[in-house]
Amino acid sequence: MNIRTRFAPSPTGFLHVGGARTALFCWLMARHDNGSFVLRIEDTDLERSTPESVQAILDGMEWLGLDYDEGPYYQTQRFDRYAEITQQLLESGKAYHCYCSKERLDDLREQQMAEGIKPRYDGRCRELAKPPAGVKPVVRFRNPAKGSVEWNDQVRGRISISNEELDDLIIARPDGSPTYNFTVVVDDLDMGITHVVRGDDHINNTPRQINIYGALGADIPIFGHVPMILGEDGARLSKRHGAVGVMQYRKLGYLPQALRNYLVRLGWSHGDQEVFSDAQMTELFRLEDVNRKAAAFDHDKLDWLNQHYMRNLPPGEVAEHLAWHFAALGIDPDTGPRLEDLIAVQGDRVKTLREMAEVSRMFYQEFDEFDPGAAKKHLRPVALEPLQVLLGRLENQLDWTPERLHEVIHATAEALEVGMGKVAQPLRVALAGTGVSPSIDKTLWLCGRERSLQRIRRAIDFVAMRAAAS
Ligand code: GLU
Repeated sequence: MNIRTRFAPSPTGFLHVGGARTALFCWLMARHDNGSFVLRIEDTDLERSTPESVQAILDGMEWLGLDYDEGPYYQTQRFDRYAEITQQLLESGKAYHCYCSKERLDDLREQQMAEGIKPRYDGRCRELAKPPAGVKPVVRFRNPAKGSVEWNDQVRGRISISNEELDDLIIARPDGSPTYNFTVVVDDLDMGITHVVRGDDHINNTPRQINIYGALGADIPIFGHVPMILGEDGARLSKRHGAVGVMQYRKLGYLPQALRNYLVRLGWSHGDQEVFSDAQMTELFRLEDVNRKAAAFDHDKLDWLNQHYMRNLPPGEVAEHLAWHFAALGIDPDTGPRLEDLIAVQGDRVKTLREMAEVSRMFYQEFDEFDPGAAKKHLRPVALEPLQVLLGRLENQLDWTPERLHEVIHATAEALEVGMGKVAQPLRVALAGTGVSPSIDKTLWLCGRERSLQRIRRAIDFVAMRAAAS
């Protein structure tokens, strides 16, 4: 049978990078084995689940490219099924009604704490002859009293927990609504999940779930508990470390390919290889190779990968993502150079797509005025002649390619017997409004012929006016 994995987020917020990494691991396992990846929304906590969070999770998965073969299933649509299994467990004696009041449970807890023992339900209602009238009971699972639960965790190794550590957990509340540990087992069974991969914050739930599998007469799936992600300071990754939501990374200008590659390497490795195509990840990823020690988020490495992908993916693919940032910044890509050309030039110069969009605005929109510092330095009267000569030559230049433009600039400097900088720097400020831009031939190329000529004329006027004023 082929592997079936699932990602089972609770929709109480955005898609966290930790959750996304778990989803990615599950996705890779399914893809590797030609199996299936299932998405299940665990929305039984009606107070904390919101439709916005569901949407945020779906959006995050789509952007990251984690497509699922089945789902999204919603637990809130499966209440009848949980009730049916609860009934089955009650009938087979594997579960029982518990009528204990909150007060009694609180007292019990206090007493146990005072005695220095781990608080747990004492099983009073296990063999209740006469239920009290007028009390709506919860349903508790009858956890085996003796023995232990063992499993071979694919990440953590062999784990064994004594049943004496475990409680008769509540599987249905007085209103009949089911609880987490129970719904997960029913779903993972019904959905034929072969590998349960999740964060190690769930490791304490696993023995309880295994006992429920046992009570249902079912085989247990393979479990793997992946360590959490830490911030650079070693504390659990949180907002205080910066972005934690997948879609925040989109806004910051990361490519999904880069984030995916980054996340797969966070806690998993294959030799010292850093860059993995989807095909390679799918081929090489093994749950057993996931490190059991928590890994720390390294923003520099993510930046490095992002740059790698900006440079090495087909420009058309990068362009699709860059277009989103153009829209976010109100820049119309049709008013300037092709995004593919822009990416070829700017890919080396920036760390993110957001930055690329920001520093490229000048190729698409006019700027109000020259940066005063740059103008003071480079748009001086001595710049007048180089700009005028250049303008004349460029007006005759119809073949607007970086190579030809490079020649024109060189020839101008040579003709005037000045260094390249005396031509290039005024030209740069004329075109970009500032002293910073890609190489001057590329800047000229990306600005396009009409826009370049018009900006050089504007700079000439500016210099002439300044000369006249002084
Ligand atoms: N819904 C749980 C969570 O978001 C995950 C449960 C599981 O993977 O078993 O933490």
